[in-house]
Amino acid sequence: MTADFLTFPVPAARPPGTVFIVGAGPGDPDLLTLRALRVLRDADVVVHDRLIGPGILDFAKPDAEVLYVGKAKANHSVPQDEINALMARRARAGKRVIRLKGGDPFVFGRGGEEVDYLLARGVPVEIVPGITAATGCAAYAGIPLTHRDHATAVTFISGHAKDGDPDLDWDGLARGRQTIVVYMGISTAGRVAARLIENGLARSTPAAVVENGTLATQKVATGTVAELEKVIRDNQITGPALIVIGEVARFAKTSEPEHWPLAAAE
Ligand code: SAH
Repeated sequence: MTADFLTFPVPAARPPGTVFIVGAGPGDPDLLTLRALRVLRDADVVVHDRLIGPGILDFAKPDAEVLYVGKAKANHSVPQDEINALMARRARAGKRVIRLKGGDPFVFGRGGEEVDYLLARGVPVEIVPGITAATGCAAYAGIPLTHRDHATAVTFISGHAKDGDPDLDWDGLARGRQTIVVYMGISTAGRVAARLIENGLARSTPAAVVENGTLATQKVATGTVAELEKVIRDNQITGPALIVIGEVARFAKTSEPEHWPLAAAE
């Protein structure tokens, strides 16, 4: 890779009027992909969500049109139909549009719905993957999502479904030796924990909650699955947070990496 790779424009093969659906990673701007950065620097229109880390939008061109369409839960600022329509309109006007989403656009990000809408209207699309909250938060909290001794599978679930509580295979999820990562799960954590325990997960199974993962404000709280709701309450977790349930949550570090404990040399 040459030094001018970054200043080189986004591949000419992509015509103006393309919508780039881009994952911005979980927060820390260092976790943007090079492709996300290149697309962002080149975009005429930036359509973004709430969970875009601080500093990331500064990479956009000074004259780019920046539109915030974020939704806080139960407070939909711009309905999905309108987001779709405004992207299509600008793309048809020949603009390069970047739809910047937190994490990865295809993990609980409605990226699929947007792609369907745009392609159905003849708008070309490119998807740029991002580091999803699960892998970003786990890394910055020192939790290996899989581990040969503790977890041979990992499942990402949402604490919220389109219409209320998630309908999941609780029996399968409650079987041990796997890791469960809950997105959007803070307000339903008690119910999710109860369903897992009812279905046979040991009450003592470790759980970790990572709030504002990968950011300077990251907070990591730990306990057991039975205590999950209390852990969230006692630690006043209110921001975007991810829950990790399974033996691997035992590895969670509540301090910065420079303070992670080192074992004494033999
Ligand atoms: N597409 C995103 C997820 C969007 S759903 C991704 O791939 O990461 C939003 C949920 O993601 C939040 O409710 C929270 O559970 C999680 N999340 C996103 N960013 C986070 C962060 N920095 N720290 C902790 N959780 C985060």
